[in-house]
Amino acid sequence: MKEEIMDVALKRGFLIPSNEAYGQVSGFYDYGSVGAPMKRKIEDAWRKSFIWRDGNLEVETVMILPEIVLKASGHVGHFGDPLVGCEKCKKKFRADTLVADAIGEKAGEGGQGEHVKRLKEHLARLPGMNPEELTEKMRELGIGCPECGGGFGEVGWFNLMFKTNIGPVEGNPGYARPETAQGIFLAFPRVFRAHGSRLPLGIGQIGKSFRNEISPRQGLIRLREFTQMELEYFFNPESALHPRFGEVEGRKVRVLTREAQVSGSDEAQEFTAKELVEKKIAPNQIMAYFLARETEFYESLGVPSGDFRFRHMLKEETPHYSGGNFDLEVSTSYGWVETIGTAYRTDFDLSSHAKTSGQDLSVFIEEEKKKIIPHVVEPSFGVDRLFWAVLEKCYRSGGGAEGRDWSWFDFPPRIAPFGCAVLPLMKKDGLKEYAEGLVRALREEGVNALFDVSGSIGKRYARQDEIGTPYCVTADYESLEKGTVTVRFRNDGKQVRVPAGELPARLREFAKAGKVTA
Ligand SMILES: [Zn+2]
Repeated sequence: MKEEIMDVALKRGFLIPSNEAYGQVSGFYDYGSVGAPMKRKIEDAWRKSFIWRDGNLEVETVMILPEIVLKASGHVGHFGDPLVGCEKCKKKFRADTLVADAIGEKAGEGGQGEHVKRLKEHLARLPGMNPEELTEKMRELGIGCPECGGGFGEVGWFNLMFKTNIGPVEGNPGYARPETAQGIFLAFPRVFRAHGSRLPLGIGQIGKSFRNEISPRQGLIRLREFTQMELEYFFNPESALHPRFGEVEGRKVRVLTREAQVSGSDEAQEFTAKELVEKKIAPNQIMAYFLARETEFYESLGVPSGDFRFRHMLKEETPHYSGGNFDLEVSTSYGWVETIGTAYRTDFDLSSHAKTSGQDLSVFIEEEKKKIIPHVVEPSFGVDRLFWAVLEKCYRSGGGAEGRDWSWFDFPPRIAPFGCAVLPLMKKDGLKEYAEGLVRALREEGVNALFDVSGSIGKRYARQDEIGTPYCVTADYESLEKGTVTVRFRNDGKQVRVPAGELPARLREFAKAGKVTA
């Protein structure tokens, strides 16, 4: 499945291997002329749902950070992977993965299977396991090089940040940011004051982050340069309530609970957002609110609710300051992939930056007449992984019920790469010129419309289906006489006739209703 989708994504312009002429460096992908507009639309959908709808605010902070910021955030000391080299073939491996695999194999022999393997894997990645302990563990398990069988040396620590030097004088290290969140924490005091010094306050941003992964080999799932959409929701811990919780309290959310995981189950259970709070599965109402909104958001982008779940991370997997973390995991052809992490970060980040910088980052709460450091719940979305999940979930291989012999994408209209395509039935008799007028008018209206005159009309319909264009507008002889055009719906191939002048409004209407069928 993943090979087929990647093949289609490359062939149809969704993705381009970066620097292709020179041989792609793994962990980097470009978005092509079909993929880039779709990625923007996914980002816009997030902006509308997570920023504008709730009156949250957006910032854009820098990507290069001085070392001290990332020392305070813990990234300089702890953001890395344990690395070990084979003494014979000199290849490098992640020590924790080797250990987890070895433990998993042993567990597998005991017949407990996949789940135990996963659990052990998480445990092997405990932040507490330092390189010395891993070295010892590897010796104890007798792990040899998976490539050549050679022996391993000592386990070292490899920091995953891209390092650079700021300015011409050496000794002024900077790093490409490993997450967008730190910029938001540092911008918080000014945004807070500029908007009435009130809590709760949500501040988000969409932008690139960087992780120098040791050996990324999973397409869009593990990238060295990727896009995040992060929201930091600052609130007074004395009142961890969300003003719009009432709108989502009945919404069902699928959770793989800690109890289930510990007892060896892999089954997610359904809870309403309200139950998550009452049963104390979610640490507070704000967390439950976001899990419900994330569920709605994913469904609206074409990821069916049965295909994802929130895994409540085990206490041992989360940092000491955490008040609870939930990973949204999507079932993909790579297995379960984490695409959103929602974390209750308490006051950790603001407190660390206050301590390291010597600045007072607390805020004055008018009603209580006191200063506090706000707490934060952070939903952090990976855009590239979501993009991949949408490709997988919306892919329809040919020969289905529609009787097509081409594969196509069932994207929701609001994130389809192109709003519509305009196709003259023939090049001759003024049809081409008429259609050119139509496409110009649509583009003036802000529709990103494609225009295609080459090949038979059937071939052109197929080409649009292949990139998930929801509507094809065709100009034919009747158009010249009566000023009407046909609109063909991607999902069932049916057509309706519409006055050309009403086209922009009708397309918006179809898209709003999510209608891709007649
Ligand atoms: Zn080797």
